Parts: sequence; structure tokens; C-alpha cells
Amino acid sequence: MVEADRPWHSFPQHLLDGYRTFTSQRLPTEQSRYRELSERGQSPAVMVIGCCDSRVSPEVIFDAGPGELFVVRNVANLVPVYQPDSGAHGVSAALEYAVNVLRVKHIVVLGHAQCGGIRAFIDKIEPLSPGDFIGKLDGRCSSSRAKWSSSATARPCRISPSGSRRPRCSESSKT
Ligand SMILES: [Zn+2]
Repeated sequence: MVEADRPWHSFPQHLLDGYRTFTSQRLPTEQSRYRELSERGQSPAVMVIGCCDSRVSPEVIFDAGPGELFVVRNVANLVPVYQPDSGAHGVSAALEYAVNVLRVKHIVVLGHAQCGGIRAFIDKIEPLSPGDFIGKLDGRCSSSRAKWSSSATARPCRISPSGSRRPRCSESSKT
């Protein structure tokens, strides 16, 4: 595939085309749902903390409709340590809102195979450096990594979105 054949080569036209497709095809079929959400507000039962990875969209792999999932995404689906200071803590704010305001019943931390963020933390590969934001994340994850590495019972949870509508979470041995 040459570069010109890639749909995002025509940015922002491809984005605009996608929005037009959404408004002309999907929105009409879900109009009542969107109207209800607009009038009553959202009340999702599930919060998902997922990775930014473009291949792992929670709404897509869980086949969720509008208003069903409250989602926060960051590199490597990290949940930071609770720090009630003056810093900007986006994930903590999302957790606080989900639990205290939306009263979600479940919180899912959605890991995935081939995560570049986790690989950077484990293998210390580019673009991991002390001056980069992802490098600073590594410092915050180091204690978790040490616990994971030293735990005989720790098992990563693998989600396999391909081939099935329902993600499969299975234990696998540490590598
Ligand atoms: Zn990832």
C-alpha cells in the first residue's frame, strides 16, 4: 500500500467523511438512545481504564453502545497512585467522578497484547528517557514492575479481541 492509498493521507477529509457516515447511518438508528442520554444524562454501570493503543478501543471490542461505558485511556492503561496534591491527575479525577458521581458498579482495567507502553517499561526501549513523559511514567511504574517480577503468582491478563465478540481473559505464564 502506497502512502497515498492510506485513508488518513487525506486528513482531515477522512475524519469528516467518517463523521458524515456516522450522522447519516448510525445516528438515525440510535437517535432515541442519544436523545434519552441527552435528557437524562449518562449512567454507565462500567468504567474501563484502557490503553491509548489505536487497536484496542473498548467500545468496539465490547460492542458497547452510547452511554454504556465510562472510559479513560492512557499509555499502558496505568492507574496512578492516589496523590491528593495540586497536580493534574486525570485518571484519578475520572475514577473519582465514576465512583462518586456516576456510581459505576464495575471498574475494568483493560490490558492488551503487544502493548508498546508496557514493552517500553519492561525493556527500557525508545522513546523511554528520563526527560520524556513516558520516561517519568516508568519511574512511577518501577515499584509495580518489581512487584510483578517478583511475584510467583502474578499473571498478565490477555484480552483477545479478534475472532470473538466477547474479549477472553485467560491466565498465561510469565515470560
Ligand atoms: Zn497499550
